[in-house]
Amino acid sequence: MSIVGLGIDLGGTKIKGIRMEENGQILAEVNAPTGNGESEQEVLGNLFAVIEALWRDDRPAAIGIGCAGPVDFARQVVAISPNISFLHEYPLGAIVQERFGLPTLIENDVKVGALGELYFGEGKGVSDFAFVTMGTGMGGAIVHEGKLLRGVGNAAGEIGHLTLEQFGLECGCGKLGCYEALAAGPAIRRHFLYALRKGRRSCLETLTPEEIDTERIAEAARESDELALEVFRTSAFYTGLALSYLVNLLNPAKIILGGGMAQALDLMWDTILGTLTLHALDYPLRQVEVVRSKLGNEAGVLGAAMMGIRHAQGRKP
Ligand SMILES: [Zn+2]
Repeated sequence: MSIVGLGIDLGGTKIKGIRMEENGQILAEVNAPTGNGESEQEVLGNLFAVIEALWRDDRPAAIGIGCAGPVDFARQVVAISPNISFLHEYPLGAIVQERFGLPTLIENDVKVGALGELYFGEGKGVSDFAFVTMGTGMGGAIVHEGKLLRGVGNAAGEIGHLTLEQFGLECGCGKLGCYEALAAGPAIRRHFLYALRKGRRSCLETLTPEEIDTERIAEAARESDELALEVFRTSAFYTGLALSYLVNLLNPAKIILGGGMAQALDLMWDTILGTLTLHALDYPLRQVEVVRSKLGNEAGVLGAAMMGIRHAQGRKP
């Protein structure tokens, strides 16, 4: 009989949960708001409600949870969360395991996304690949010889905080000039609004700043708006540069691009690949394929569920 596990993506605004068979078939899906990130009671209440809604009659084998920020995997502790303030040195795995009496594992959200790609997506059968999520932040995870590369404290893969400009824009992490600060969704929007203020023309110039978001700018770019195209190309340049570091350091067979901004890759491919070609070494460059994730937002919950299932089977997640 097929083993069933629960996969949860505990996000800053939304909790997404699935009930999944070992072969990747999703049997049920539940979404709920995360609630006030400062209230332990509220967030845990919502998380437990999602798990209960997915439980049904028969007992799942395990629960896997992905959440943002560094997770000390060995100790099953969320070290710090960018959007849920009480998750600070917080033993989330043990708390959920205690509540439901089921084997539970927690892991960083981008790392479970990479596991989703490894088991069910573009990473299937690929021993060495990097997974990069592009959105309001830039996340990364590395699979080496078929396993997640964790580093000594499970913080390996933080591509978003590679410094790409000395003394560049300030990042949420407190450093200056990080890839994320220069190229993620908010940077695209800021660059666009700045250029409008400086008198550059665009088909969006009659809108108020509040009405202009990354999706709107992407739409304008697809209608050949020069300024909109330019800000996406600027972001894509930094992505190409960041990916060249991955290629030179890791020699991956694939780089899988996911996250919300992957929807706008059509506007960025040429610049990403052109920059990558300029800055990667020729030999590893010939061996890498850059692809867009086909799992989209599902990668995280699929990977989280499979992590739990493998844990219950006594296999390495
Ligand atoms: Zn940073």
